[in-house]
Amino acid sequence: MSTSLFNARLIRTHVCAQCWGALVERYTEGEFSVICPRGCQPGGFVSREFADRRRAESDAQLAEVAHNYPQFDTRPPITSADLEALFGKD
Ligand SMILES: [Zn+2]
Repeated sequence: MSTSLFNARLIRTHVCAQCWGALVERYTEGEFSVICPRGCQPGGFVSREFADRRRAESDAQLAEVAHNYPQFDTRPPITSADLEALFGKD
C-alpha cells in the first residue's frame, strides 16, 4: 500500500518503463496506485533521469548518423518557418 505523498514523489521522479511517458495516480478498489495512462503492459517505472539520459544519447546518435549518412536521413528539412516558430521573429 502506498501513500499519496509517496505516489506524488513517484510521479515526479519516475516515468513509465515502456513508453517513458508521465505517470498518473488512480484510485480503484479503495486504494491509490500509480499507473501509465496509456495502460502499457507489463508496466513498471524507470527514473526520469534515466529516460532523459537515454533520450539525449539517442538524439546524439541520430545526429551522428544523419551527419555521416545524409542519404538515410528521412526527417523533413528545417525551414525558416520552423525556426521562426521556435525562436520568434527578429
Ligand atoms: Zn506507458
